[in-house]
Amino acid sequence: MGTMLQAACSCGYTSGSLMYGIGFAYFETGSYWELAYCDQCSVVKTVDGKKKKVCGKCKNQLQVYKKKGASIDEDSMPHLPACDEFEDGQSYHCPRCKEEKLIFQSCGCWD
Ligand SMILES: [Zn+2]
Ligand SMILES: [Zn+2]
Repeated sequence: MGTMLQAACSCGYTSGSLMYGIGFAYFETGSYWELAYCDQCSVVKTVDGKKKKVCGKCKNQLQVYKKKGASIDEDSMPHLPACDEFEDGQSYHCPRCKEEKLIFQSCGCWD
């Protein structure tokens, strides 16, 4: 149900495996995973979509990756871009070099 993604940038940055999406636990706890980054720590990480988006290390606000052009509707149930929407060749903000050169690749599934 969820996907494992890995972020990679041409500057050399690569993340570890990132869980993304809604897993089996969603039906019990309502938790789901979003992708976010911390510019301060130069990392891409996954965050529990229901929790506060704060970096555990530097306490800064984390920036959540959104599909470009997607409207953000706070009222809806977790409105997540489908996992393959991050794999459409678009590039996103890289927390290391601060340029929009980061891409996401799928590296497996989880549930
Ligand atoms: Zn941080
Ligand atoms: Zn980079």
